[in-house]
Amino acid sequence: LIVPDFGLLAREIDATYEELRDERGGAVADYIPQLARTDPDSFGIAVCTVDGQRHLAGDARTMFCVQSVSKTVGYCLALEEHGIDGTHQHVGREPSGLGFNEVTFNQQGLPHNPMINAGAIISASLIRPGEPLSDRYEHVERTWQRLAGGRRPGFSNSVYLSERATADRNFALGYLMRERGAFPEGTDLREALEFYFQCCSVEVDADMLAMVAATFANGGICPLTGDRVFGPDTVQHCQSLMMSCGMYDFSGEFAFSIGLPAKSGVSGALMIVVPQVMGIAVWSPRLDSQGNTVRGIEFCKRLVERYVVHPHDAA
Ligand code: GLU
Repeated sequence: LIVPDFGLLAREIDATYEELRDERGGAVADYIPQLARTDPDSFGIAVCTVDGQRHLAGDARTMFCVQSVSKTVGYCLALEEHGIDGTHQHVGREPSGLGFNEVTFNQQGLPHNPMINAGAIISASLIRPGEPLSDRYEHVERTWQRLAGGRRPGFSNSVYLSERATADRNFALGYLMRERGAFPEGTDLREALEFYFQCCSVEVDADMLAMVAATFANGGICPLTGDRVFGPDTVQHCQSLMMSCGMYDFSGEFAFSIGLPAKSGVSGALMIVVPQVMGIAVWSPRLDSQGNTVRGIEFCKRLVERYVVHPHDAA
């Protein structure tokens, strides 16, 4: 067993969950109107080890939108289809040092990386570009399902419609990228944006997201089904970018103090990979000023205090 005393880990997770329930700092994202309607007190934690041991605490079976966490899956799908060169011809791999929806491009006129909005819109445009949108969405949905051990994800049509109706910034990014020639040839801009919003509106619960993270931790093979969803190189590249760019403007600090590949989203979702050991998901909608879930960050701090999970832990 990869975590020999899983019962102890489970008890510690429960204790941390109880401690953090009283944490009410931060605010639910409201720039996508529908997201503002989420119950701010929702709180779920889930863990899945690379050998399939699982534990859930709190609202781990309530569905939420993945939002920016979808940037991981989108990037992996682009890599699987176009390889590293084919993908990075359209998007960089350096941190931007700026906000997730900032209007900024690198010296080549490309988005800085696939973990910010502009880069994720590019990833979306690279996923089976020749196929009808329905087939492309099905491919994304099916990939989430395989990553999550076979459970089918949901889709929030209201969040999708709400985001699409208020997406001036993402449309602006799209037009600027088109002007700079960042998209693959033949990209229909409106379709690329709508597909990106749909990818953000995929719904999972913490239990599923922990299994997704465990599939990453396991090098791309789902621990529950043995299904190889992504190749090892794809997982490696994605985790490298999660490490450097996955936590908005807090990414450098997160890499410093936590040291794990992770990706957060404005819905309060957080996916954490402990490579070769386990995947963890935290969902709690109140966000700090950088856009990360307050309880999720607090959870990570406690995790590194109690367990040797920081890869550079020399104690
Ligand atoms: N769909 C959101 C947007 O593009 C995702 C943002 C996020 O979770 O960071 O604005």
